[in-house]
Amino acid sequence: MSEKDKPTVLLEYYLKKLRLPTMLREYAPMAAVCQKDRAAFPTYLLRLTERELLDREKRSAERRVKDANFPVLKTIDTFDFKAQPSINEQLVRELMRGEYIDKRENILLIGNSGTGKTHLASALAFSACAHGRKVRFHTVTGLITALVECREERRMQQLQKQLQRLHLLVLDELGYVPFSKAGSELLFEVISRAYEQNSLMVTSNLPFEEWTEVFGSERLTGALLDRITHRCHILEANGESYRLRQAKKRSKHRSPQKQDPKQK
Ligand code: ADP
Ligand code: MG
Repeated sequence: MSEKDKPTVLLEYYLKKLRLPTMLREYAPMAAVCQKDRAAFPTYLLRLTERELLDREKRSAERRVKDANFPVLKTIDTFDFKAQPSINEQLVRELMRGEYIDKRENILLIGNSGTGKTHLASALAFSACAHGRKVRFHTVTGLITALVECREERRMQQLQKQLQRLHLLVLDELGYVPFSKAGSELLFEVISRAYEQNSLMVTSNLPFEEWTEVFGSERLTGALLDRITHRCHILEANGESYRLRQAKKRSKHRSPQKQDPKQK
């Protein structure tokens, strides 16, 4: 190695060691730019560190979104509030700011199938990721399956620790499938641990009166509702299914002559 190369080689080695990949990539081209601009040394260093910081924030936001395991990426921009007037738009927009997470408050989204609960839950959770929060999206049945699989002591602790590290745990589709006794107890445990520690966001197609049927025990359901609904924002959608509406619109376009006259 020639003497001239030595500082460069060492610099690259240190930048790698310090985990500064953007500075490693940019230090040479940025030096050329700064030389052309006649920028001072601190300006050069400032520009490099700024890039590293921005890239790091971008990388960690991407990692948080990946870790959250969203079933589909939905944002608020594509949600049509006019199509679902029963949803409190003002409340949704307020919740997008994420202050409920600092206060460890919960969100419940209740409504029939197709009314946009999963869409809104994803959009809210995505916004939480963008604000630097650790989020995890589970369907209720998916989480129960994972819990049952992890029942062996050591793995259960591991999963519970993972869940406790979250700022926001999304439980989608409560009520579609009833649980086994063991399943509801395991879920109850997760919800109890989250109580006043992490925020929960639960979507359900069931009104509260029917939750007992899913959990199989009135006592458990009472205790659970008590924990979830204490410090909770409720979003209710009681409109028509968005999918159904779109399908109706499409068929109307395709065959206007076949339209039911009573529907006009
Ligand atoms: P739910 O979870 O309540 O069953 P989803 O959120 O899965 O309903 O909504 C079903 C589909 O319709 C999704 O593709 C969703 O993006 C879309 N959708 C529902 N409501 C709206 C809305 N108000 N504006 C735009 N898209 C919507
Ligand atoms: Mg859904």
